[in-house]
Amino acid sequence: MTKRTRVRFAPSPTGGLHLGGVRTVLYNYLFAKSQGGDFVLRIEDTDQTRFVQGAEEYIFNCLKWAGLEPDESPLKEGPYGPYRQSERKAIYRSYAEQLIKDGFAYYAFDTTEELEKMRTDFKTESNPSPQYDHTVRMKMRNSLTLSDAEVQELLKNGTKHVIRILLTPSETVSFTDMIRGEVQFDTSVVDDKVLLKADGMPTYHLAVVVDDYLMKITHAFRGEEWLSSAPVHILLWKYLGWEKDMPQWAHLPLILGPNGKLSKRDGAKYGFPVFAMNWTDAKTGELTEGFKEKGFLPEAFINLLALLGWNDGTEQELFTKEELIQKFSMDRVHSGGAKFDYEKAKWFNHEWIKSKDAKSLMPDIKSILTNKGINITNEGFLEKVIHLVKDRCTLLSDFYEQCHFFFKAPETIDTASILPKWNESRRNFFKELISAYGKLDPWNAGSAENLLKQMAAASQIKPGDLMMPFRIMLVGGKFGPGVFEIAEILGQRETIARMEKTLALLP
Ligand code: GLU
Repeated sequence: MTKRTRVRFAPSPTGGLHLGGVRTVLYNYLFAKSQGGDFVLRIEDTDQTRFVQGAEEYIFNCLKWAGLEPDESPLKEGPYGPYRQSERKAIYRSYAEQLIKDGFAYYAFDTTEELEKMRTDFKTESNPSPQYDHTVRMKMRNSLTLSDAEVQELLKNGTKHVIRILLTPSETVSFTDMIRGEVQFDTSVVDDKVLLKADGMPTYHLAVVVDDYLMKITHAFRGEEWLSSAPVHILLWKYLGWEKDMPQWAHLPLILGPNGKLSKRDGAKYGFPVFAMNWTDAKTGELTEGFKEKGFLPEAFINLLALLGWNDGTEQELFTKEELIQKFSMDRVHSGGAKFDYEKAKWFNHEWIKSKDAKSLMPDIKSILTNKGINITNEGFLEKVIHLVKDRCTLLSDFYEQCHFFFKAPETIDTASILPKWNESRRNFFKELISAYGKLDPWNAGSAENLLKQMAAASQIKPGDLMMPFRIMLVGGKFGPGVFEIAEILGQRETIARMEKTLALLP
């Protein structure tokens, strides 16, 4: 029987989620869904020194916004919970002790000062930051160098200690990465990582392996930055006797910015978001902008993320989530870094805004306008407005600029742009147009345009010369969608009122 596919996203809640993090979520999610499997969210919070208030909630909110909600998580317990590692503390020690019993790990009692001393004593030019490894372990205070009796005594007295993995040097650890193929490491370069800390909490290395095992994870996809930890994890799978259940690994390529790895700093420097949602660092108060608040649609966001490192082998660029689920496969994920291009990201959003119908955009736009002080009383009217302007909006935040004048008559009117070509005949023309518009029936963009053109021909004025003043009368400046469409939506009375108001300001 083939195993049910189970993948996990296992963030440490230490801050906002950047593009790379959400892309890891997305690839996990798409893979799970494409296989009819489960997507698990596990919070890896065993390093209490890195605890950041609000970071966990932020992760839940991001996944919710992006539409990538897990099947099991701290908020949605499943059969393998708890899903927060700090709540699983009691589980890990027995595995660490099992490793000691089997000769794959040892107790280490070295104090901070002793470790510090080791780092200075063994420092050489070729080894500027010595690690706790096969070259030094026999010179330290641990269960390899102390007698059994001494070790038992120390443990009995509650002496602070950690448990470290015992690595055999000069072994080759290899595995097949789903993206990179065969990957090999020499154990000589890996240190004896701490597995269980003095506070009884496991380190990431032990916890990730134990939990992937207990949660029956079949595939582990994570960022390339974790590749160097893979040998320790693979050895742990082996040492714990679980090798045949080891997940298949995939280390996802970096997302590159203008200068190498995409960073928060790039975002600040070039003015684009790198986080999924706004994140404010509680300590520094520093705000990192998010795609959501910048005005991206979640559909566009996951679409652009999917294409940062994957394609379906065709030229297609726009995919719905359902299509992505259908088409996604790990063997089309590139191993090289994927370059993030903000202009392209905006293109995705623009395409998505265009393709959505006005009704589905309504809740977002309504809240944007309301936040800007526009009170929406008529949703049918709002829908018409959205329909008219949406093709002109790249970001949701552009809607305000593109449509505020439908809801509030312009406060300032750019008469200066009308004046250079303003004269008696123009004035008369608009006066006559106002009275003709008053009788126009039916009132719509086509009828308003025809009438203006007929009257322009009769007065021998080029219609083109009339459009700009007419537009300024309606919206206050030289912007906005088609002027007759604006007139139609504003309605006959409001159009005439705005024309009269501007005429009164002109000589
Ligand atoms: N806790 C790790 C992180 O913060 C998880 C890495 C992994 O997926 O193994 O990304």
